[in-house]
Amino acid sequence: MIIGYECPLLRERFLNSSGQFGDHLPLLESVLLSCDATNLESSVRFRIRLLLFSIALLWQVSSADIALGQRQKAAVHPWLATAPGEFVRLIQAGEVSIEEDDERLRKENRQALTFFELTIDYQYFMQYQTVESGPDGQTVRVNVRYKKPTSRVVHKVIVGSDFKPVAPWSNPLLMHEMDHVAISTDPRLERWIESFFVMERNWDFNFQQSTKPTDGQIQKRIVEKSQELTLDVERWIQFLYDYLDSESVQGTQDIANRSSFYFNLYSPETVAKCKITSFLALTPEQIRNAIKVPKRKLETHFRIRIE
Ligand SMILES: [Zn+2]
Repeated sequence: MIIGYECPLLRERFLNSSGQFGDHLPLLESVLLSCDATNLESSVRFRIRLLLFSIALLWQVSSADIALGQRQKAAVHPWLATAPGEFVRLIQAGEVSIEEDDERLRKENRQALTFFELTIDYQYFMQYQTVESGPDGQTVRVNVRYKKPTSRVVHKVIVGSDFKPVAPWSNPLLMHEMDHVAISTDPRLERWIESFFVMERNWDFNFQQSTKPTDGQIQKRIVEKSQELTLDVERWIQFLYDYLDSESVQGTQDIANRSSFYFNLYSPETVAKCKITSFLALTPEQIRNAIKVPKRKLETHFRIRIE
């Protein structure tokens, strides 16, 4: 028996306010507004929000870079109004804000940090059937098809109160942070998320109970699985952030071949280096199909020239 289920107003938000690199402390907020179990088609909407930050920087700010005077914290940092065109695009795409936070930098032992918050909105259709049923347990086989999701990234760049470069947008420290922003606003990322989420999923869920699981119980398991998928995207971006830091020695050196580095971020070879099981299972063809973006778009985005 295959049962469809509709719950259009179910909405769940998952907020990960990671305070430490690689240490995720999820805070789950769940709001059940209404469920209508009478229809056969399922359309369930969830929002997953993840907060990340980049690991930066063993950076020496040269004294020549320090401007005189004090700059106070402001709702909109004044540098944002002076950004040249190539950075304006990133600032807009990544909804970048800049803040001074000496305490946070001291705590992380960094000279700058870039946080990003990733939001993925998606809906899915599910079907399930009971494949085992006994007094001690039930096994349900679930088929889930996600609809095309939408994603959004918001960034916060944190700098020290003594960081006062005369020309911030040509300062290597800020430019390095904007390289992080470029990675998490890469047009291929949106395509990657879309491709990853629309893949059909089949899961077997076991319930240690004598009665058949309710739709709510099954949905809860799907939410957990969906959170794992979203965490995989989070890990992927963090992997790329770490890769950038590794190639640039925490931002202290220019990347040897900037064009090649950015162009190959989503190559099967790069994906093979990540330790994300679900991505390692992708075939080279799936990877290439997932990220079809015109080269010109990448050249503009990363300020590179692809041969
Ligand atoms: Zn960095």
